[in-house]
Amino acid sequence: MFKNTIFYFAAIIFVAACSPKQTESPDINKLAEEYIRLGLDIGQYDGSFVDAYYGPDSLKPKTKADTAFPKQKFLDEVTALSARLQKITSDTSAAVSARAKWLLAQLKAYERRIKIFSGEYADFDTEAKDLFGVTAPKYDEKTFQQKLDELDKILPGNGSIFDRFQQLANRFIIPKNKIDTVFRTSILECRKRTLAHFTLPGQERFELELVNNKPWSGYNWYKGNYNSLIQINTDINIFIDRAIDVGSHESYPGHHVYNMLLEENLYKGKGLIEISMYPLFSPQSFIAEGSGNYGIQLAFPGDDRIQFSKEVLLPLAGLDTTGITAYFRATAIRGQLNYVRNEVARGLINGTMNETQALEWLMKYGLLNEETAKKSIDFIKVNRTYVINYNYGLEAVEAYVNKKAGTNATEDQIWKAFYQLLSEQIMTTDIVNQ
Ligand SMILES: [Zn+2]
Repeated sequence: MFKNTIFYFAAIIFVAACSPKQTESPDINKLAEEYIRLGLDIGQYDGSFVDAYYGPDSLKPKTKADTAFPKQKFLDEVTALSARLQKITSDTSAAVSARAKWLLAQLKAYERRIKIFSGEYADFDTEAKDLFGVTAPKYDEKTFQQKLDELDKILPGNGSIFDRFQQLANRFIIPKNKIDTVFRTSILECRKRTLAHFTLPGQERFELELVNNKPWSGYNWYKGNYNSLIQINTDINIFIDRAIDVGSHESYPGHHVYNMLLEENLYKGKGLIEISMYPLFSPQSFIAEGSGNYGIQLAFPGDDRIQFSKEVLLPLAGLDTTGITAYFRATAIRGQLNYVRNEVARGLINGTMNETQALEWLMKYGLLNEETAKKSIDFIKVNRTYVINYNYGLEAVEAYVNKKAGTNATEDQIWKAFYQLLSEQIMTTDIVNQ
């Protein structure tokens, strides 16, 4: 009898653990499924809408889209679903209420993206707020000039800041035939450094592929079941620091890890079905890009990037190490100039800047060479306000993790706070207004 009772309780616990949906109100799960159905439907027309989906096949569209983009129908569906979710934002269950609020913010992004896809545009800040839940701080030329003055002091040689920076950078272009091995080595190092603090699913793996003709420098295509395809674009010259930055951003502890932790802890662990689809133009991307960039400095604190480049990557690429310290010091300041791209996107979207001016700004204040600056404009044309996620997202994620870890936190405590962030269904407003 006693043994049977234990078996009975064990069976109940087992069922509860395997069917987390049963512990939630069925209503929110139904609405979450509708949110996915709608997203996948829109994705039939807008190829950039769905970044990843690994949920049930039953939620995929039954028929192939063969009509013109039904803008109004989709907008009406967003409005109707939002109204039903609104009713449960004050649900007695905090978990249900939190999910409803999260879904509402995601649907706000659906609405804006539907409009953008059909050619209806808003100003820069309105678009960013609707898509990502935040508006980025605005910086003027004076702020950027101050950063350039800092660079002026550390760059070797004579001539303009732009020329001196390019001369230094050009020493560290990875030869085309070495890109694959340099990136592979860098990503494995990022993985090793992440595994020192995180336990990742045993079956996790990634594939690396070099591609061409893309508006981005790297991309992580998350396939579900802890698998990713990481693509690196080789259209333009790739500098040695990018092997660490892009490599880590797309993989460990960047996008590959973020997607895995969402799948493991939220989708499979808590049964949150909505997590199985990731709409690219949504508040989730503020956390994804911010954490992707924050992870680089977490995995390579202090001068670790300089040391790793000097000892491993540069010899592997067959490049001389002279000047590498000055180069990394300069790229750290140039990294702070990443906000230039926001202002260029703001100017192009608000119609206060033309493409010639945009190119001038990216070269003068962003210190991008001409081919990279042109690539950056291509990116803005396709992804628009998405650019704020890389810099403002990074700033917000860093402040959030540091606050959660507490003052005088150890390195491991900071990694743990970061793990927590990557495993939560969190709103961008919670991160920014902490
Ligand atoms: Zn990214």
